[in-house]
Amino acid sequence: MDFGLSEEQELLFENLADLVEREWDEEAYNDCYYNKHCYPRDFIMKLQEAGFTMLGVPEEFGGTPVDTVTMVMFAKELARMTGASLPCASNAISIDDILSFGSPEQQRIVLDYVAQNGSAPFALGFSEPQAGSDSSGILTTATRKDGKVYISGHKTMVTDADTSPYLLCITKNLEEPVAFKAMSMWLVPMDAPGVRLEPLHKIGLRTSGFHEVYLENVELPESSLLGVEGAGFMQLMKNFEIERLMLVAIGVGMAEAAFEEVARYANYREQFGKPLGQFQLIQEKITDMAIKLENMKNIIFKTAWEKDNGRSVQIGSALAKRYCAMASFEVLDEAMQIMGGMGYTEESRISRMWLDARHLRIAGGTDEIMVHIAGRAILKNYK
Ligand SMILES: Cc1cc2nc3c(=O)[nH]c(=O)nc-3n(C[C@H](O)[C@H](O)[C@H](O)COP(=O)(O)OP(=O)(O)OC[C@H]3O[C@@H](n4cnc5c(N)ncnc54)[C@H](O)[C@@H]3O)c2cc1C
Repeated sequence: MDFGLSEEQELLFENLADLVEREWDEEAYNDCYYNKHCYPRDFIMKLQEAGFTMLGVPEEFGGTPVDTVTMVMFAKELARMTGASLPCASNAISIDDILSFGSPEQQRIVLDYVAQNGSAPFALGFSEPQAGSDSSGILTTATRKDGKVYISGHKTMVTDADTSPYLLCITKNLEEPVAFKAMSMWLVPMDAPGVRLEPLHKIGLRTSGFHEVYLENVELPESSLLGVEGAGFMQLMKNFEIERLMLVAIGVGMAEAAFEEVARYANYREQFGKPLGQFQLIQEKITDMAIKLENMKNIIFKTAWEKDNGRSVQIGSALAKRYCAMASFEVLDEAMQIMGGMGYTEESRISRMWLDARHLRIAGGTDEIMVHIAGRAILKNYK
């Protein structure tokens, strides 16, 4: 495995660095984050114009195909360069279900929206109050009457429900025979009668909304079904492993950004007549942070390489998700410690990244569920 950059990758990341240098406005982003609670649209549209939001999308859909290693590197680098968690870092994975399983009309909706907004047009409605880690416990149903479909249920913790035109809603098939995890996917317009939102208030990731979504007999045409009825869970699982990798790649990028910032800070901030970096206790923190960063980059790139080389990443992606979710937060926490009191203020971007990275231990499968996936699979290999 060689993770040295190819010529194409070098050019890609040079272009990205130039764009961030020119267009990233930290003050405007803080305003989006702390006051307006919206994505930095102007910056995302610059990424869109430069083709970055279609990275990894097949050519036939107007994208720029790249391998998984490059996609993971891109997600990490974008987070490192901006210190922000931007959803468009992984558009290719978010919209792949629609491009792979959707009708031509559903594909068109998604591609047009990405072209105009730089991000996917739907929020994911999977979790329910009684069904989080145990997703088989969902109760939202789709029933049929007079040629129409009616969706009823309660989704929770839905990111971007307030700004997305659609909900990618997962329902349970209750019709006979009731198969375990027989689920279906529907594209539900958020403005359909019977859809109601109630806000939840996240402590981090404040550029995106977070909502309860109530669905009361929401009437849909049959054409709202996405892919094959009863195969919704399998369709969703197609990308779950890589989605986890892309998610933690953002955490690794933010941890790297914080590391670079505090390593410089430790060289010039003086206490007791010398720079912080001359105290061995601070050197120990810097050393342990560097080890964690090395390990995190190795595990995400190696797992991406395995995916590109046709190997199973069932265990690898769970190990990477669990390790990087914890280690990226630990690096950010130590970065805050080295910054001292100013690290605990909104004036420092380390506190913002610290708030953002904490969710990685929960969303996309919790630390504990990663043990559930990896632990059993590893032990099975030694039977
Ligand atoms: C920032 C953020 C964004 C999110 N966005 C979305 C979204 O857009 N759409 C969506 O559908 N969902 C979303 N979620 C929900 C997310 O998928 C769930 O939070 C996650 O699956 C965990 O479910 P839960 O919160 O119900 O916790 P629970 O499943 O109730 O778990 C609570 C605790 O118990 C542990 N636990 C559970 N089962 C076991 C077990 N078998 N063994 C050991 N420990 C166990 C968990 O690891 C956890 O520590 C988001 C969550 C967050 C934090």
